This record gives sequence, structure tokens and C-alpha cells, in this order.
Amino acid sequence: MRTAEFSNDPAMRPARERMVERQIARRGIRDPRVLVAMRHVPREAFIAGELREFAYEDSPLPIEAGQTISQPYIVARMIEAARIEPGERVLEVGAGSGYAAAVLGQLAAEVYAIERHPELAALARWRLAAIGANNIEVRTGDGSRGWPEAAPFDAILVAAGGPEVPDILREQLEIGGRLVMPVGDMESQRLLRITRLDADRFETDDLGAVRFVPLIGEGGWHEDEVSGHAPRRAPARTRHAEARPRPESLLELIRRAAEPLPDFDDPAFGALFDRFADAKVVLLGEASHGTSEFYRARAAITKRLIEKHGFTSVAVEADWPDAATIDRYVRHGEPRDDAAPAFRRFPTWMWRNTDVEAFVGWLRAHNADLPAAHRAGFYGLDLYSLEGSMRAVIDYLDTVDRKAAQIARERYGCLTPWQKDPAAYGRMALSDEYKSCEKAVVAMLRDLLGKRLDYVAHDGERFFDAAQNARLVADAERYYRFMYYGSAESWNLRDRHMFETLEHLLQSKGEGAKAVVWAHNSHIGDARHTEMGSVRDELNIGQLCRERFGSDAALIGFGTDRGTVAAASDWDGPMEVKNVLPARADSYERLVHDADVPRCLLDLREKAHIALHAQLTEPRLERFIGVIYRPDTERWSHYAEASLPQQFDAYVWFDETTAVTPLPTRVLEGIDETWPFGL
Ligand code: SAM
Repeated sequence: MRTAEFSNDPAMRPARERMVERQIARRGIRDPRVLVAMRHVPREAFIAGELREFAYEDSPLPIEAGQTISQPYIVARMIEAARIEPGERVLEVGAGSGYAAAVLGQLAAEVYAIERHPELAALARWRLAAIGANNIEVRTGDGSRGWPEAAPFDAILVAAGGPEVPDILREQLEIGGRLVMPVGDMESQRLLRITRLDADRFETDDLGAVRFVPLIGEGGWHEDEVSGHAPRRAPARTRHAEARPRPESLLELIRRAAEPLPDFDDPAFGALFDRFADAKVVLLGEASHGTSEFYRARAAITKRLIEKHGFTSVAVEADWPDAATIDRYVRHGEPRDDAAPAFRRFPTWMWRNTDVEAFVGWLRAHNADLPAAHRAGFYGLDLYSLEGSMRAVIDYLDTVDRKAAQIARERYGCLTPWQKDPAAYGRMALSDEYKSCEKAVVAMLRDLLGKRLDYVAHDGERFFDAAQNARLVADAERYYRFMYYGSAESWNLRDRHMFETLEHLLQSKGEGAKAVVWAHNSHIGDARHTEMGSVRDELNIGQLCRERFGSDAALIGFGTDRGTVAAASDWDGPMEVKNVLPARADSYERLVHDADVPRCLLDLREKAHIALHAQLTEPRLERFIGVIYRPDTERWSHYAEASLPQQFDAYVWFDETTAVTPLPTRVLEGIDETWPFGL
């Protein structure tokens, strides 16, 4: 086996390792040589610049000439099926980007690759040379006629689908040679392996259903037959048909299930959600961090849950100390002299907007006449406030235990140099020379909790606040170290922190406490039924709540087809009001849009609408817009596969939506603290 170390971006290596582990090995590709080869070849080197960041996604991607680079799994599957041995000669028909040829080059002695688009063949040659692959020849031509001068081949792979296996390709197989090719009509094919037993006899194995771009040429389809089918953007995935047939009955089922939403100010709006009021936690999502309708709907539902159903906590995807400033205001506490204004760090519009301001005003007014113990509070679940939380712990200890405060100063001193840029701490902590601050921050938390009884005697609420900040510091320290091991680990740490904060909050309020959570759909929709969970091993608060509370957790997602959204183009960039593109044809959003109900509640539970639940369960694409919105690369930046009725108990729909209105603010000199998620 060739083991040339290709020149490539080392930062992509962990992503490539994860791709091989999760998308390929876990799906049943066992041949160790294929797995090693997939680990070696830098897929990013075969993709145009703006899409490079998606190189290790579980999907095909567009390349030049309107073609695609196949999904990594399909490349591995075809190559494994071809059973290539060291020293063999291989022909690939449909070289495209050259990526599959590069993987084949790792396994075989010589690879011959043919591509019908001259532009692609030239690029593939250049890309293969750039990574140092030197046993692959690429030429332009009709590969359905094979490459007679180089025949016979031990293996032939055809990366495009034809109506039958061309005889001429069979003839170019060595005795014992294997030909792997998708065969069928233009919509779907079967992946076949033809093994040449002797001069005249061939054995065929059917390896299952696939969907490829057409093989165009003498032994494939005629160009005219195909023109009606172009452009086909996601061919190598059977489940991502561009325009999946939609039985009229499904649209009809949606229309019948859709409960129209009244005005936000109409009490009937909140009343529609009474069916979820018995739950202990009601989680309200959003399909972007900058859409006014989502905030207003959540406010209307939350008011009802607080006024009529005994909910006393609103826990949001924001940092604990920022939310604590709001909490003091809504529960008529004393403002802290040294407290910084809340939500001054990027992305400010996420919480500093007129819709949140109106809700906070309502909450304060609602609480005014209630005894302190019955007032509803406002809490933050997130962990990006390392600096503010360390300060809060020290300030607290200064008032109850000056000696402990001094110890806290020393221990947190380990992190102080990094508090403005904790991501840099994570990088440093990776090196052996630098000692991590883990022990110090964990010891601080342990000491604080150990003295709980002493401290609570002063003021239970202030102790709870300090303990929460100390937990946050300990989790944030780990979070920044884990960030360098890959996104799933740090994502999971963050969502676990949010879930545990919610649990602590509920415990602190006593038995029977009920909370409403406001966080992005990606946090509150059960991750097990999305690509996040199934491919990337990510969990989230929604999943953890279901596991912990069962049907006492209600998960409510939100969606829209088009309109405007407040978002940035890059991390730390200015807020812009951007147009949201109409939803893709193969998305849930498009389905609900086509049902023609401008704003509605869809109860997705099986017990509510059994047929609808069943028909919506098969996964489709769903759109996720965070604080960044990139319409140019929307498919890869913002869509992921999910099963809507398994992810959520209900779905709140606004066909057209508008951007939030931000409150005036000055952005602090911040750091990219929620990188790399942008959610
Ligand atoms: N294996 C490629 C890769 O790794 O990027 C992806 C192949 S793409 C799914 C299929 C390719 O087959 C397209 O680039 C298309 O232009 C090419 N193709 C279709 N018919 C062909 C033919 N008769 N001869 C050569 N190439 C053909």
C-alpha cells in the first residue's frame, strides 16, 4: 500500500479522522486498507475554496462544470466493493474532482481516470499533482468506451449511472477482475458488481439502491435524454431527492392539522399551548437567532405558562451573569453597583432587542404584586462568561469569607491572563509545557460547595448564584480545552452544562418547579433524530430533557420559509438585516410552505395526528440559521437532515418572518467565544 503523506491542511486532520470513523467505519465499511486510504487523502484539496469548510460533511458537494464530488461514504463503499489488491491496475470512469482517483491511487499500483468535461479533467490533474499523487493518469473522453490502450484492468469503477453495463467495459476486465457501477434509470439505480469469471462468464452481485449522475456517452445515456434532468445537485444520496414526490395527501394532512395562530397579543395565542402545560419543562426553539416572530411567539407562550400554569423560571441560551442582571430587575432585586450592562458581547442582538425588552418589562410588571417567593425569574444557561463569572465568585466571597476570596483570586489567577481570549488558553493547555488550570478551578468549586451550609446562612440566593458561576468557570475551562479536540466534544460539554444548570435551577426552586427554556432549535430539538446526533455524535438539551423527564418535557420547534433575519456574515462582524432565501425544495420548510398556511401550530405528536406523524417521520432537510447567515453556501452552512416529528412535539410556523430590532449598544472588544458553532 502507498502511504505517501500528502501535503494538506493539518487543521483538517481531526475532521477527516471523524469522517472515517463516523460516516464510513460506523456504516459498515470494514476493509482496513480502504479506511487507511480514506484517512490519507485530503478531500478539501478537491473542493473549491468557499466550500472547503464542508469537506468532511456527510454529503456530496458541487464542483466545477455543474458536477459533484461524491459523498465520502459512497466513495468508500464502491472502492471496498471493488476489492482492490496492491499492485493492481484500476480504471475509474467519471473522475470528476479526482478525489476517488486519489483514494484508489493509495490502494492500487496504477490508476487511469477518464472525465468527459475537459475543465474537470484539467483541474483533477492539477489537484492530484498538488497533493503529490503520482500514479494516476487523467484524460478527457467518453469513459463508457473504456481506455483500450491501458486495458485489461483488475478493477473498473464507474462513478455515473447508466442503463446497463457497457460490453466494452466488460471486455476490458482482466479474468477475475471486478467492475462496480450504478445501473438503472436516471432517477435511481442499483449498485452492481460484475466479476469476470472467465472469457465469457460474468457474475453479478446487487449491492443495493443508489442515486448517481448519469453516465453520458456511447455506453450510457444520450446527452439529449439527460438535459431535462439537469441540474442535479445531490445525486449520490438516495434520501435527498431534489423534489421528492409529495403525495397531495401529505399537504392535505398538514393543512388539516395546522391550527392557525392568532395575534401575539391575543390571549388565545398562548392558550393554544395549554396542552403542554402539564410538563415540567417546556422548551421553545427558534430557527434563527434574529427573527422577531420567534421571540414574540415565545413571549406569548411563556406569559401564559407563567400566568396560568405555575411556571416560575425562564432559562435562556445566554450567559449566567448577564441573565442575572435581568433577573434582579424582573424580580425587583437591588441592582449591583458594579454590574456591567447585560448582553454587550457579540452577538448583541440575540438578547438586546426590542422583543426581549418588551418581555422583560412584562415580567417585571407581572412580578410586582407577587410575594417574592412566587416571582418568576430569568436565568442564563450558557457558559461563555468566564471573566464575569470568576469576578462574581470573588465578589461574593469578599462579602462572606475574605480568606476564601483570597484563595479564589490565586486559583483563578491561573486563567486571568486568558480571560479576554479563553480560546488561546485552550490552545496553550494542549502543549505539555503549559499546566492546565483544571485542578485550580475544580478545587474552587469543591470548596465553595463544601461550605454551602455556612454560606447559605447568609443569603441562599446569593450562594446559589455564586455556586452557579463557579460551576460555569469549571465547565468553561474544560470547554476551551476540549474545543481543540473537535466540535462534538465541546458542543456536548456546552449542552451538558446548559442542561445541568437547568437541573440545578429546578432543584433550587423546590419540588414541583417548572421552567420554560428559550434556545435555538439545534439545542432543544432531540439531537438523536438529527444529523447532529446520528452522524456527529452531538447531544443537546432537548435530548437530555427527554431522557431525564420523559413526557414531562415538551419540545417545541419553530420554522419559517422566507423573509428577513438579523445576522452577521462572519464571526464578530456587524449585524446586518439579510434576506432569508425561500426554503429548498427538499426541506420540511418547503413542505409546510406548500401547505399554504401562513402561521400555525402543528401538533406533531403521534397521539395528535397519527398519519401526519408517520408521513413526516422520514428524514428531510431542515434549516438552521444561527448568528451567522450565509445564503451563498446555504445548503452546506445551514441545512441538516432531521426527522421533524421525532425531534419536536410541536412546530410553530411563520411562512414569512422579519428581523429583530436591536437595542442600541456598543460591542465590547470580544473574542469569538461561541466559535465554532455560531449558534
Ligand atoms: N468520482 C468523482 C469524485 O470523486 O469527485 C465524482 C464523480 S461524479 C459523481 C460523476 C462524473 O462522471 C462527473 O464528473 C461527470 O462529468 C462524469 N461523467 C459522466 N459521464 C461520463 C463519461 N461517459 N465519461 C467520463 N466521465 C463521465
